[in-house]
Amino acid sequence: MSTNNEGSTQGGATADSGSFDSLMRENRVFPPPAEFASRAWIKSEMEWEAMYRRSIEHPELFWAEAAEELSWSKKWDKVLEGTFPDPKWFTGGKLNLCYNAVDRHVEAGRGDKVALIWEGEPVGQVVKLTYSQLLVEVQRFANVLKAHGVKKGDRVAIYMGMTNELAIAVLACARIGAIHSVIFGGFAAHAISDRVKDCDCRVVVTQDMSYRRGAPIKLKEIVDAGLESCPDVRSVIVYQREPKFETPMKAGRDSWWHEEAAKVSAECPCAEQEAEDPLFILYTSGTTGKPKGLVHTTGGYAVQTYLTTKYVFDIHDDDIYWCSADIGWITGHSYVVYGPLQNGATVLLYEGAPNFPEQDRFWQIVDDHKVTIFYTAPTAIRAFIKFGVDKVRKHSLASLRLLGTVGEPINPEAWMWFHREVGHENCPIVDTWWQTETGGHMLAPIPGAIATKPGSATRPFFGIEPAVLTKEGDPVPNDHGGLLVIRKPWPSMARTIWGDDERFAQAYFSEIPGCYFTGDGARCDADGYYWLMGRVDDVINVSGHRLGTMEIESALVAHPKVAEAAVVGRPDELKGQAIAAFVSLEYGLDPSDELKQELRQWVAKEIGALARPDDLRFTPILPKTRSGKIMRRLLRELATTGDIKGDTTTLEDFSLLAKLRDNDD
Ligand code: ATP
Ligand code: MG
Repeated sequence: MSTNNEGSTQGGATADSGSFDSLMRENRVFPPPAEFASRAWIKSEMEWEAMYRRSIEHPELFWAEAAEELSWSKKWDKVLEGTFPDPKWFTGGKLNLCYNAVDRHVEAGRGDKVALIWEGEPVGQVVKLTYSQLLVEVQRFANVLKAHGVKKGDRVAIYMGMTNELAIAVLACARIGAIHSVIFGGFAAHAISDRVKDCDCRVVVTQDMSYRRGAPIKLKEIVDAGLESCPDVRSVIVYQREPKFETPMKAGRDSWWHEEAAKVSAECPCAEQEAEDPLFILYTSGTTGKPKGLVHTTGGYAVQTYLTTKYVFDIHDDDIYWCSADIGWITGHSYVVYGPLQNGATVLLYEGAPNFPEQDRFWQIVDDHKVTIFYTAPTAIRAFIKFGVDKVRKHSLASLRLLGTVGEPINPEAWMWFHREVGHENCPIVDTWWQTETGGHMLAPIPGAIATKPGSATRPFFGIEPAVLTKEGDPVPNDHGGLLVIRKPWPSMARTIWGDDERFAQAYFSEIPGCYFTGDGARCDADGYYWLMGRVDDVINVSGHRLGTMEIESALVAHPKVAEAAVVGRPDELKGQAIAAFVSLEYGLDPSDELKQELRQWVAKEIGALARPDDLRFTPILPKTRSGKIMRRLLRELATTGDIKGDTTTLEDFSLLAKLRDNDD
């Protein structure tokens, strides 16, 4: 890693200004491959500059032009009205997002193009749906929802595995103007009841079961347990994934999707939606605390997910696009369903685990379906690194032309591995920074135009004005860390927290007046590239130096024996806080005291003595949310008190808590 040791002298951060010290320097730069750029939507940095400048100087013109690429039943009167915390986009405009994602491609004569390729976890189960077929299925299910009393504005909870039917259920809601609330299919019963009650859903869509590492996950039974405390739910509609399993059905409440679909017509007109009508509610991942039910609306969300998919993934008609995120997360909403389908793309969905039946399943899927664009999370990449390179090298991967990451900062060495082993050094990597709250990409390279740097989410998307500020709202100079904010409203931003406008205004717009506060720390370099440094809540304050978690973790991951690392602060009488590191080694390596010392020294050498971990513990895995994000607050609690008592409802693997406690030395 190209780093320097001057960190401790360059920060100048005071303890509570909100700025951070930055220790890491990464100097590698990867220009867009010439062949990629030659056929890209945006082919050069100059072209990008001109477009970006215009999008900032004349945002309303820029977004209006983007919106014109979609179909509206009535054109908007005004592009943007009002500002934070309550901006309105495309007011007076009417459209239907399902129409834009499905119907209009069929009407344009592209009905025979494959819209969805579903790959089940059991090898050999594949179902493809063309746009015409998808249109029929969506209309039927929209009629099923109507038959169950669902009306415009009603909330529908969806708790399913990764199936085409999940996408169909989502689109059917959009078609009739119902508000979907997708609950990730890996959550437990109480997470379902919390979410169903929070937004008062009366209808729930689920499926009998889903496969995970070869085992059946009985989703319907989990729903039943969750709904024990939700007497207001009147209908549970169950998609039958696997007829060979017996599924309990409650008379008067539960019905089978296929039986209901057989009773209704295959024609259902699209409801005309106001641009600001709610489209969905989605609860955040819960990495930092209790999930919030963010509300997204129709018009602005449609435009930004459409445009970011077009430019950031440089999507073209012959692409086979695979985003490995579950539809239950914002990434799945925006970049499995709405963004790619509005672009008329062919989208692959995979039901199961990356390591089933073997650790090379993802690469097998890429080769089998000739995937061209592959979008995944750093946590998955770090798992592939742990699996060992022979798993990926067994496969050709020659179809790939673009790679993407989302969800956490990617450590530069994990980025390099992805670039080398998966991209064979000729696929650009788009590291996309955004949030449930932002609805669409905010920072990301435009791959034919912007050179990439490992570990940087690079430049803002068109129309997005980020800044790195102190707590007082003053700009932080280049190469110093601070609070990442967004200065102006953007179309796909969440409009509120369901039922709690005040909490919305408080959480995002009170910290720095006039700006959207992201909760993340970042620095901007002299080239205008943004580097995410970790969450503001996770900052470690060592002897008055405020350090983000990302740089220390990246230094650890740069050691050849380390696969994954998380660092947290614990109270220290002398220094204020001491650094505790949790390290997971590459497959087959054993922890030892020597290695512990070596790694502590390694960090000191890589980025400076200030960052040397005071404690270092080896752990086979790190605590993560169900979406794969490291839950540092649990590690902080463990390092501080020796135990974990905080909210663990979104934790992926509960048995891990016991393992972490056992490891406590
Ligand atoms: P909660 O808000 O409930 O604590 P969460 O923040 O994990 O959960 P999401 O909205 O899914 O919920 O995640 C957004 C966050 O993920 C960002 O604020 C950022 O911390 C992190 N993130 C996402 N993409 C990137 C990226 N490319 N680089 C760095 N960090 C990223
Ligand atoms: Mg968040």
